[in-house]
Amino acid sequence: MVIREITCKSALTPSGISGVDYALNPYVGCQHGCAYCYAVFMKRFTSHREEWGQFVDVRVNVPQVLARQLQRAKPGNVSLGTVTDAYQPLERQYELSRQCLQALAAYPDFPTTVLTKSALVLRDLDVLREMKGVEVAFTITTLDDSVRRILEPHASPIPQRIEALARLHEAGISTWAFFGPALPVFSDSEEAIDAFFATLAQTGVSRILVDTLNLKSASWGRLQQVLKKHYPEVLDAYQLIWQDRHGYATALAKRVARVAERHRVPYELCF
Ligand code: SF4
Repeated sequence: MVIREITCKSALTPSGISGVDYALNPYVGCQHGCAYCYAVFMKRFTSHREEWGQFVDVRVNVPQVLARQLQRAKPGNVSLGTVTDAYQPLERQYELSRQCLQALAAYPDFPTTVLTKSALVLRDLDVLREMKGVEVAFTITTLDDSVRRILEPHASPIPQRIEALARLHEAGISTWAFFGPALPVFSDSEEAIDAFFATLAQTGVSRILVDTLNLKSASWGRLQQVLKKHYPEVLDAYQLIWQDRHGYATALAKRVARVAERHRVPYELCF
């Protein structure tokens, strides 16, 4: 893993994500190493020769730049960690996300959402408690930690993420879960979705956002290699989905709707 410290000129950038005004990303690159990572497209905009997942640029001045930007920026909501995880392991040492939250805490006109796969966010509970309108969301793609170990090898174990959601809720922080991507074969059956909703509902999440696997070519190439090595028996099923993405998504949406109705948990489809 190649770690570089860099400086940035801008911290808040206009977001192309629906409902999000500003994106805030203290790190370029991600140590979590998810096999399906969509952020691999970032390599088009960077000069890295390393493989995706083998480098992280640390934007060491991001809290200071953010503090200056907040003084003059138009109010809007902020999403921390839109491209890569703001609580990846390096954050333990650099505390850039923590310092960004501290800066944002003084600006209630910039309600902030943190989306992560790391229980490290609990370290910053003291800051989160001071923030108006803050939300913390965890991405969880499967309840099976043996699958997580293969597909999201360096992110927090699933039980830790579930426990973190419960602790945040108990602390009065609004939480939600991102079930995305629902993993074909591993977590997309009605039974698996049912278990997912039942488990997450117990943590007090306000809603569950569901997304389907987006097999863009770059992501698919990386995922295919991992599946070939660890789960060759599922490759055919993934190929079929790749060929009929629309049909797959429609069927998934129906399964999710049936489950959500049973559990009475608010949900949104992202596809
Ligand atoms: S946590 Fe997100 S950005 Fe990081 S490797 Fe996983 S999918 Fe990619």
